[in-house]
Amino acid sequence: MSGFFDTNIEFLRGVGPLKAELLKKELQIFTFGDLLEHFPFRYEDRTSFVKINELTPELEHVQVVGKLGNVELVGEGRKKRLIAQFSDETATMELTWFKGIQWVSKRLVTGASYVAFGKPNQYGRKYSMAHPELELLTERQADKSFLQPVYSSTEKLKNKFLDSKGISKLIEELLKQGLNHVSETFPPTLMHAHRLMAKREAIRHIHFPSDIQVLRRARYRLKFEEFFFLQLRLLKLKLARTEKFRGQVLGQTSLLTEFYTKHLPFDLTNAQKKVTREIFTDLKSGKQMNRLVQGDVGSGKTIVAFISILIAVDSGAQTCLMAPTEILATQHFEGLKDYASQMGLEIALLTGSTKRSSREAIHAALLEGRLHILIGTHALLEDVVRFQNLGLAIIDEQHRFGVAQRAKLWGKNRELYPHVLVMTATPIPRTLAMTLYGDLDISVIDELPSGRKPIQTIHRYDRDRLRVFGFIRKQIEAGRQVYMVYPLIEESEKSDLKSLMDGYESICRAFSEYPIGILHGNMKPADKEFEMARFAKGETKIMVATTVIEVGVNVPNATVMVIENAERFGLSQLHQLRGRVGRGSSQSYCILMTKYELSKDSRVRLETMVRTNNGFEIADVDLKLRGPGDLTGTQQSGLTDLKIADLSKDAPILALARDVAREILEQDPQLLAEEHRPILAQISKQKKNAVNWSRIS
Ligand code: ADP
Ligand code: MG
Repeated sequence: MSGFFDTNIEFLRGVGPLKAELLKKELQIFTFGDLLEHFPFRYEDRTSFVKINELTPELEHVQVVGKLGNVELVGEGRKKRLIAQFSDETATMELTWFKGIQWVSKRLVTGASYVAFGKPNQYGRKYSMAHPELELLTERQADKSFLQPVYSSTEKLKNKFLDSKGISKLIEELLKQGLNHVSETFPPTLMHAHRLMAKREAIRHIHFPSDIQVLRRARYRLKFEEFFFLQLRLLKLKLARTEKFRGQVLGQTSLLTEFYTKHLPFDLTNAQKKVTREIFTDLKSGKQMNRLVQGDVGSGKTIVAFISILIAVDSGAQTCLMAPTEILATQHFEGLKDYASQMGLEIALLTGSTKRSSREAIHAALLEGRLHILIGTHALLEDVVRFQNLGLAIIDEQHRFGVAQRAKLWGKNRELYPHVLVMTATPIPRTLAMTLYGDLDISVIDELPSGRKPIQTIHRYDRDRLRVFGFIRKQIEAGRQVYMVYPLIEESEKSDLKSLMDGYESICRAFSEYPIGILHGNMKPADKEFEMARFAKGETKIMVATTVIEVGVNVPNATVMVIENAERFGLSQLHQLRGRVGRGSSQSYCILMTKYELSKDSRVRLETMVRTNNGFEIADVDLKLRGPGDLTGTQQSGLTDLKIADLSKDAPILALARDVAREILEQDPQLLAEEHRPILAQISKQKKNAVNWSRIS
C-alpha cells in the first residue's frame, strides 16, 4: 500500500524538480510525509500589538500598527540606507533598510497604515526597526491575529524562495490536499483516557495554530505519539528477548558467603548491596540477564562485578570482563587477581599484546573449563576465543562499545546466551537511559563509599600558572601525585601532540627535581603500560597525559588533576577526568586551566564543574547544552532522532508514554486486538519508512 504521503515531494504544487532536489539535499524532505513532519521550531506571536511608546530594548520581535510617514534615502556608498518614519497615536519610530533599497522604496506608500513586525532597537531616545516585515493593514481581517510558524531553512533554499514563509506556503498547500489523508494512530479509548487531541487536528494546529492553548495540546499530542512509538518498539524488543532467551540458572552462594566473611575489604554501600541483589535475582531467574549498571566514577563498580563473577563461577560457569583499552583491562586484571587467588579461582588477561604462547595456553584452558575468569579487550571477541561454558559476560565502560559488539558476546556460548552485565560510569540522565537502553534493565549505584572527601574543583586562568605550580609542588612534597592532562581530540592532530610535548618540557623544567612520566595514544602499548605502572607505584610524581587516562584508571595516591585548555573538553569528559582523583582518603583537587576569553557554553561547563561533583547533575546540564545526539555519539543515533519531542525537556511525557506502551503490551503483546489496529498500522508504516529511507540515502 503506497499512500498519499509517500508521494515524491516534486509533485506538490509549487515545488517541481529543481526545488525538490534542494528540499531533499538540504532538509532531507523526500516525500509529502516528510514535509508534513517538518514541524515549525518556533512561532512568532502575531496575536498582540505593541504601542510605540511601550517599546523597550528587551523586547524580542513585536508587531506595531502605524501610519507610514516621510521616506528618505540617507548616507553614501555602503552606509546608504532608507529611513521611513512610522507613527501611531503614542509616538514615532523609524523603519530602516540597508539592502534592496530600490525594491522596497518602490513599494512603500506614504500615508498608508501598516503592520510592522521586527526587533525594536533603541538609538538615543528613538526606536527603530531594521528590515521589518511590512503588511498593509487592510489586507488583514481586523480580528485575524495568529501565531506564525517559523520553519528551519537554509541559505540555498532561501535563494529559491523557500525561506520560512515559502515553506509555510508549501505546507498550507499540502494540508489543503492532504489533511484528510492523515489517519489516526491511537485507539479512541487511549485518546480519551489521556485527553489527547486527534492526530489530524494536531497536525493542522502544529503548523497553523489558532491560539497558544491549541498549540500546546497539539504539541503534547505529537510528542506523546513520538515517545509512545519509540518506547513501544524498545519494549517489544525487550519482551521478545525475555520471552525467547532462557538463561543459565546461576544461583549458588557458598563462594559468595566465603568471600563476604573472609575477604571483603570493606562494607558494601547500600547502593552496592541493592544492585548486587538485583543482579543475583536476574542470574538465578532462568532468564537471560541484560543489565546496565550505572555508577558514578569511584562508586565501586568493580567489586559488584567481582561478586557477580563469584555467583556465576559457583554454579560452574565461566566469566569474562571486557574493557575498552589495554590500560583498563590490565588494571582490572591487577585489581581482581588478588581477590581471585584468595578464592582459589583461575584468572587470565588477554589483550592485543598477549604473547602467542600464553595466548594459546589461555585458549586451551578456556575450552577445557579450567579458566574461570578472563579479562581483556576487544581481543576477547575474536572467534578463536572459545569457552567451555560462558555464563556471564561483563562489559566495562559501555560507551566505547557498540550494540553489535554486545551481540557478538552473546554468541560466545553454545547453548544459552550468557548473562550480560554492562557497567558504565557515564552518568546518563534517566530519560535518556530509558530511551537508549530501553532493551536493558537498569541498576544505579547512586552512593559513594563513605569517608570520601568531595573533590574541590577550581577554575584558574593561564596567567595564574605560577601559583598553580606552587600548589602542585606543595602536594608533591606532602607525598602526593599529580595528573596534568592536555586535550588531544584526534590522536593524529599534530598541533595537539606538540602542545602536549611543549607542556611536558616546561613541566620537566619547572619540576626538574622530580621524576615525571608521559602518556599518550601514539605510544606503544608496552610503553604506556610501563609509564602507568611507574606512576601507580609512586615512582613518577607527575603524569603528563592526554585523555588516554580518562577512563577507569585507579591511583589512590594521586590527589591533583590539572586539566589544561579545559574549555576544549566536554562536560562529561571533564567529569570523567576529575574522577581519576579523589580515590583515596586525602583531600583531592581538580584545577581547570583556561585562557581568559571564554564562550558562554564554556563558562557554563566550567561553572557546573566547580559547583557540583554529582555526575547525574552534570549529565543533565550536558544534555541541555549539547542535546542528546552528541551525548551518545553516532552509534545509537536514530534512536534519539526525535522530530518534536525533546529528551531534556519532556521527561514527564516520556515516562507516561512508556507506561501506557507497557500497559498495552502487557494486555496484548502481539497487538492483535481490534482496538489496537491503528497502533499496529502505524508500526508497520514506520518499518516501511525505515526501509525506504535506507534505499534513498
Ligand atoms: P568505579 O565505579 O569508578 O569503577 P572502583 O570500583 O574502581 O570504582 O572503586 C573505586 C575505589 O573505591 C576502589 O579503590 C575500591 O576499592 C573502593 N571501594 C569500592 N567500594 C567501596 C566501599 N563500599 N567502601 C570503601 N571503598 C570502596
Ligand atoms: Mg571502573
